[in-house]
Amino acid sequence: TPASVGPFTVVLLGDDGVGKSALASIFAGASDSMGSECELYGGEVFEQTITVDGERATVTLLDMWDSQDEGSWTQERCLQTGDAFIIVYAITDRSSFLRASDLRIQLRRQREADRTPIILVGNKCDLVRCREVSISEGRSSAAVYDCKFIETSAAMQHNVWPLFEGIIRQLRLRRDST
Ligand code: GDP
Ligand code: MG
Repeated sequence: TPASVGPFTVVLLGDDGVGKSALASIFAGASDSMGSECELYGGEVFEQTITVDGERATVTLLDMWDSQDEGSWTQERCLQTGDAFIIVYAITDRSSFLRASDLRIQLRRQREADRTPIILVGNKCDLVRCREVSISEGRSSAAVYDCKFIETSAAMQHNVWPLFEGIIRQLRLRRDST
């Protein structure tokens, strides 16, 4: 087998309760490789090697964003160390969607002129009756900030792997174009 690329550091961002840890635990539970996990600064770090389009990639996923902890050292670290970012909101919570826009602005400002991959994720798409943010709003908001977009359900395990595969494809594209 060919050597894997990476490790790429991918950081989960978003409001409390949107499902970041639920997404991370699906990632952590991937069974095709020997993943590892540890705790760091009160958050969690998961590492997995997964095969996407026939190429192995190692991803270190950081789930340590604390949205209450505005401007903290941990928040600064998260924003600085990511090779890519997954910004999560819940489709059932409009305020988490607005917060996701703020996070993209903050990221783009902090990392000016670099084309860090960002995926905007509308999670909890299984809760159709409680939807507060439409798919088209999510999609057009992502387009404004030049990010990818996907709706997921961690509860139903829907679109969670396409999310992680998508971020790896973006990281490779960026690698191949530099
Ligand atoms: P975090 O604060 O962003 O890490 O959010 P958690 O992963 O802790 O999830 C917060 C709550 O939402 C928990 O009760 C989860 O079980 C629930 N949850 C997470 N993802 C989903 C989802 O896709 N659908 C539904 N219905 N509930 C979810
Ligand atoms: Mg959490």
